[in-house]
Amino acid sequence: MRPMPDLFSRACLLLSISLFPTVFLGPAGCWAGPTFLPPIPAHLRKCVRAVKPFGDAKPVALTFDLCESENEISGYDARIVDFLRTRGIRATFFAGGKWMRSHPQETLQLMADPLFEIGNHSWNHKNFVLLGVEAMREQILGTQVQYAMYREQLISLSEARGARMEVMERMPRLPALFRFPYGRCNALALQVAGELGLTVVQWDVVSGDPDRHQTGRKMADTVLRRVKPGSMVVFHANGRGHHTAEGLHRIIPELGKQGYVFMTVSEMLRNGEALTSEECYENSPGDNRRYDIRSPGRYRER
Ligand SMILES: [Zn+2]
Repeated sequence: MRPMPDLFSRACLLLSISLFPTVFLGPAGCWAGPTFLPPIPAHLRKCVRAVKPFGDAKPVALTFDLCESENEISGYDARIVDFLRTRGIRATFFAGGKWMRSHPQETLQLMADPLFEIGNHSWNHKNFVLLGVEAMREQILGTQVQYAMYREQLISLSEARGARMEVMERMPRLPALFRFPYGRCNALALQVAGELGLTVVQWDVVSGDPDRHQTGRKMADTVLRRVKPGSMVVFHANGRGHHTAEGLHRIIPELGKQGYVFMTVSEMLRNGEALTSEECYENSPGDNRRYDIRSPGRYRER
């Protein structure tokens, strides 16, 4: 295992000089706390696509990406979050560090909500297949740092209300899950994420919500046809899921009727055996290689 004692100080410096030149701020200041978790054992550095539940349980994980690319500020679909809250539905949000930075209040609210888990979705949604090791680390660590800083803020805020310990115990120090932008990875990227202690999570059900032609009804039909116990469904909550909220109004009650239990990804991983792949893809191996083009415009799609 490669020792990384000075990783943060190096990452902090790199963040300021290379990742965020003049276009956008990096994490607000420098973070003195830990930035990476114990490494994932080498043989487990694969991509989790679903879970085989223990026994007859019917868990399902709804996941929402909060992507934000280099030259844009993306959105926040409050209708989705409000609906999940109204129904008490547990869910996982894979947030980009840059998205967190441009949406501080929304991030703090998501982090503070015990219904939700926050995963890492890189800093600004680069295709990791096109990055070198240092750039991969910056993308992952910048986001870990941003999360850790917000967690400190929440702890300070809750201190005034006498809830410091409760918040600290409930909220992980760092995100434990990572999702690759565009669902693209290679062996090196899996290794880097694993070294930084992150479990790589993808999906086995694609809602197709960035497609403007994907109506809420069609989305619900697709998801309901494909979900099985232990499934992970990918949606977007950054304004790119054009009809996601409408789709969820059908998907969630129907899955509930069928006996499904909504869990965060980490909860589901504790309640079953991870089903993994060494390749990262949307529906079948190789189907997302179209993103491997060095053109900034390609990054604006998802
Ligand atoms: Zn994304």
